Amino acid sequence: METKTPSSNFIKNIVTEDIASGKVKEVVTRFPPEPNGYLHIGHAKSICLNFELAAEFKGRTNLRFDDTNPVKEDVEYVESIKEDVKWLGFQWDGLFFASDYFGEMYERALVLIRKGLAFVDDQTPDQIRETRGTLTAPGRESPYRNRSVEENLDLFARMKNGEFSDGQKVLRAKIDMNSPNVNLRDPIIYRVLHAHHHNTGDQWCIYPMYAYAHPLEDAIEGVTHSICTLEFEDQRPFYDWVVRECEMKWVPHQYEFARLNLTNTVMSKRKLKQLVDEKAVDGWDDPRMPTISGLRRKGYTPEAIRTFCREIGVAKSYGIVDERMLEHFIREDLKLKALRTMAVLQPLKVVITNYPEGQVEWLDAENNSENPEMGHRQIPFSREIYIEQDDFMDNPPPKYFRLFPGNEVRLKHAYFIKCEEVVHDSEGNAIELRCTYDPETKSGSGFTGRKVKGTIHWVEASHAVAAQFRLYEPLISNEADEEGQSFLDHLNPNSLEVLEGFVEQGMKDSTGGDKFQFFRHGYFNVDPKDSAAGRPVFNRIVSLKSSFEV
Ligand code: ATP
Ligand code: MG
Repeated sequence: METKTPSSNFIKNIVTEDIASGKVKEVVTRFPPEPNGYLHIGHAKSICLNFELAAEFKGRTNLRFDDTNPVKEDVEYVESIKEDVKWLGFQWDGLFFASDYFGEMYERALVLIRKGLAFVDDQTPDQIRETRGTLTAPGRESPYRNRSVEENLDLFARMKNGEFSDGQKVLRAKIDMNSPNVNLRDPIIYRVLHAHHHNTGDQWCIYPMYAYAHPLEDAIEGVTHSICTLEFEDQRPFYDWVVRECEMKWVPHQYEFARLNLTNTVMSKRKLKQLVDEKAVDGWDDPRMPTISGLRRKGYTPEAIRTFCREIGVAKSYGIVDERMLEHFIREDLKLKALRTMAVLQPLKVVITNYPEGQVEWLDAENNSENPEMGHRQIPFSREIYIEQDDFMDNPPPKYFRLFPGNEVRLKHAYFIKCEEVVHDSEGNAIELRCTYDPETKSGSGFTGRKVKGTIHWVEASHAVAAQFRLYEPLISNEADEEGQSFLDHLNPNSLEVLEGFVEQGMKDSTGGDKFQFFRHGYFNVDPKDSAAGRPVFNRIVSLKSSFEV
């Protein structure tokens, strides 16, 4: 795999200093997903940052599943996450599960209890919430806060042994109910939860809270730079407290950056799961989803996603990135790689009346006009072809240079044709054009006799391969939720358009993941799920041009 140097950013500067000062010998990072959904483009940013940073300093990166909440987690997610990280082009050093450390986390909680820094609280979750205070008012201490070490040890062991029901007791850190930082007001570190865990089964009925577990995981693995998103900034003092008071040998440090947000989509696993569960999309890998699997199925390449993540940079404050940036990078990636072929998405039949019946000739077509190394192919031409319905009008407005009665256009790679006659159905729609061609005007023959203003694409009828085309628009219109509305009220009803048309015969055996540039239509990917032998389905990745360039 190519490892490109990440552009400079504040986290990289910190790492550089830590190496220079000798504070850190080997950089160790981790990507710590919770296996409760599929990865999305925001995660890709975190993956690229962690893996590329460590690679640049010849360090290591772990893939660690943060599976401390058994209720929402599933092995399906574990497998999809591994697949997506690999597909993006990264290989982890260690593969770990937070649940591997449940034993040590329990022991460390005993350390806290023995030091008088943790206590078992009998208050209900509601009471605990109500006594937490606010940003301006301090919290109130629990009446159980001053239990003896012995009593706490006994109760915590009984929590572990299953003597209490969910919510009946919790273990809390004993820090400071007056702290201006709400996260330090005796946060809960263990709760009772009688739930089956995807990894540890029914071994545990108490589970550590994320804020307690995460710093321990980092410390156990010897992580040097624990990179997370800005929401965790206020958690940093507790992160440091846990590492210190649990007497962890290794001291990791947390650094925060702004999470990636994209226009016209949602990027929280909870919302993405809602879209899947409510069947607003065809699964987590629906090409309209901002998931890695959705982008892959749509036709994005790992290279384009990595470049995007690198180029948008690492910020310290929130922003929203225009999704057209992402599109820019896939165009750039495919420009010189994709075969440029012809597809008719909404066919209109054309009969070339002066072309001999039964004759087929093979015309030369270049595969990529910007990359001569891609060579040439032969495409058939005969008396019957398909063109795009949009490329004909009975009564065109001024400056319409495509086909209309009496007008002549160039067929890409072929001849000039002239529209002589139009066949309409009973409703007045054009259903067939009868045209003549001029043999003198063959493409590549050097013909200079006259010029035409329009060039259109086409597919020869007898060899054409029937194909389905799926065109996408943003899933969500970008309006803010009004009161009482959810993002589901902003679903774009036109996010998917399905068309039935034809492609050149050479694409008949294309397989899932093959990518093409269709002349005038954009870049397309062969859908890996729904394509059948000899009947491809094409997902449009992106149109050819955008009004926006970076
Ligand atoms: P979501 O809000 O989508 O549920 P999460 O933060 O709960 O995301 P995790 O599985 O905990 O999901 O995320 C794993 C890692 O990816 C974390 O380090 C998290 O900070 C990072 N991450 C998640 N979303 C983004 C994002 N939009 N941009 C950058 N990093 C992200
Ligand atoms: Mg999270």
